[in-house]
Amino acid sequence: MNDVIDKNIKLENNNKQLFNICLRTSSLKNPGSIKTYQSIGGYEQIKRILKNKIDPQQLIDEIKISGLRGRGGAGFPTGVKWSFMPRDYDGTKYIVCNSDEGEPGTFKDRDIIRYNPHQLIEGMIIGAYIMNAQVGFNYIHGEIWEDYVFFEKAIEDARKAGFLGNNILGSGFDFELHAVHGYGAYICGEETALIESIEGKKGQPRYKPPFPATYGIYGKPTNVNNTETYASIPWIIEHGGQEFMSHGVPNSGGTKIFSVSGHVEKPGNYEIQLGMPFRQLLAEAGGVWKNRQLKAVIPGGPSTPVVPANIIIDATLDYDGLAQIGSSVGAGSMIVMDDSTCMVQALRRLSYFFYEESCGQCTPCREGTGWVYRIIDRIFKGQATLADLDLLTDVSKKISGRTICALGDAAATPVLSFIKHFRSEFENFIKHGKSVN
Ligand code: SF4
Repeated sequence: MNDVIDKNIKLENNNKQLFNICLRTSSLKNPGSIKTYQSIGGYEQIKRILKNKIDPQQLIDEIKISGLRGRGGAGFPTGVKWSFMPRDYDGTKYIVCNSDEGEPGTFKDRDIIRYNPHQLIEGMIIGAYIMNAQVGFNYIHGEIWEDYVFFEKAIEDARKAGFLGNNILGSGFDFELHAVHGYGAYICGEETALIESIEGKKGQPRYKPPFPATYGIYGKPTNVNNTETYASIPWIIEHGGQEFMSHGVPNSGGTKIFSVSGHVEKPGNYEIQLGMPFRQLLAEAGGVWKNRQLKAVIPGGPSTPVVPANIIIDATLDYDGLAQIGSSVGAGSMIVMDDSTCMVQALRRLSYFFYEESCGQCTPCREGTGWVYRIIDRIFKGQATLADLDLLTDVSKKISGRTICALGDAAATPVLSFIKHFRSEFENFIKHGKSVN
């Protein structure tokens, strides 16, 4: 599989490239400053919208045309989600940016906050105007304290420049934005747990319905979207929905940041035009490190199914392309594994993460994630029998679809996909008490 590191590969019928929209200031001097953002036309879109009092429905239509889908993992069409917010509600409405990225291998939102915070802020102001929300929060993961401090400064600069507060730019539109520092719990990335946490309560997911659009923060209509989603908005409004769509492929408009980690020469964030072949992104990341062979890839983060090298190697990176090979885009947290990887050990680590992060509210997740981890740990310690593999599958299937939030499914997904594709490796470990590598 090392042909994937050939940077000169030409792929017929595919001209997808790296293309920075959310990370477009990253190569500039002082990328996170308001001055830098304004030097590339930053805040011009909100000025234009407020000056011309552009109809919010027109802006929602543009976002629908763009094909933008939620970049936090769910992939729900953004324009449709925004249209769920009630227009005629009299009281306070809220919008929330979900920067609570806490899954292993996920590190894109912090780069947006660090290197292009004002595009995110402008995206949120535009979102607030469209949904007629008066208050916004950016909920930032508790383990990235520096980015929280950085974002607070960016908010202050935007406020001083007149883009936040009352009567923004003399338009009569009021919007205030606050940064919220999370406490590091993965489950607070689930939107209703995040809402509970903002309210000062223990971060546990709510039963749904009602959904946040009708019952969110303090029971008021609330919209929650990912950092990358909001940061895409000013570019879409500036260039038009069709132009954004054209950077991707049908059903997968625009660009997406893939956070490539694991066994590659150049791990990092790569913003790609959706539809790029997997092997092209791998080449951009320097290929599999140390001239080793590719073994498997988790394309979108630990809650997306693992895919063996021979299946992913010819796949394209977009919502349909990854669905066709039994996985998904997720948050774009791509973990690359070389041929020295022990799949038992890899799954043991992932399973411990979900066990540790279960909020404990529902029995299948609270008990099931513990069962799953302990069975894999038994395999790893040479104390399991072949029957444990079937038990592992059975327990995972009993978690899936029976919980309040998606963490239950997320915990079952790696187990089922690892066993589906690498069962013989697990059997070998049980029989011989060691990895095949
Ligand atoms: Fe909590 Fe897990 Fe239930 Fe989600 S699925 S509410 S994390 S116990």
